[in-house]
Amino acid sequence: RPAGLAPLQAHSEQTYIMVKPDGVQRGLVGEIISRFEKKGFTLKGLQMCICDKAKAEEHYRDLEGKPFFPNLVDYICSGPVVCMVWEGTDVVKAGRNLIGVTNPTDAAPGTIRGDFGVEVGRNLVHGSDSVENGEREISLWFGGTDTVEWEPTMTPWIKELS
Ligand code: UDP
Ligand code: MG
Repeated sequence: RPAGLAPLQAHSEQTYIMVKPDGVQRGLVGEIISRFEKKGFTLKGLQMCICDKAKAEEHYRDLEGKPFFPNLVDYICSGPVVCMVWEGTDVVKAGRNLIGVTNPTDAAPGTIRGDFGVEVGRNLVHGSDSVENGEREISLWFGGTDTVEWEPTMTPWIKELS
């Protein structure tokens, strides 16, 4: 901790971020990780897998019944995905800001979807929409165990609060 700076209480939380199959195929894994790293968030879990249908349906269970649901499940299962846990101050909301709104057409330039996507059914990346859903998704994809407890030494230079 920098000299003379007292530790204060921060609102730290975790979110589940996943590079979808199109993001992996297009070689955007590094770019997406880099945006979260440069923003100042901390990577706490990372793994690659190919999602099966049951897991995709569970992940998106709130959207069951939507007309796009079958295509969404097929899309998520269509190739490898990169699963991540990111931690930091208000990371759920800030992570969604980095990602951009659902439809890449409407997503602002400077966001991941705004910079790299063109269609809603190929929008490159997932981010949890609430702390509660983040916890649910992290336990679904990481089984609550495969994350790492560590703290970067530069944290006090990114966060006033810790
Ligand atoms: N989706 C789609 N068509 C739609 C709405 C959503 O294909 O009209 C897909 C898209 O991949 C989106 C995912 O379903 O990312 C989940 O939808 P949600 O509304 O949760 O959007 P997100 O939270 O990913 O922005
Ligand atoms: Mg969502």
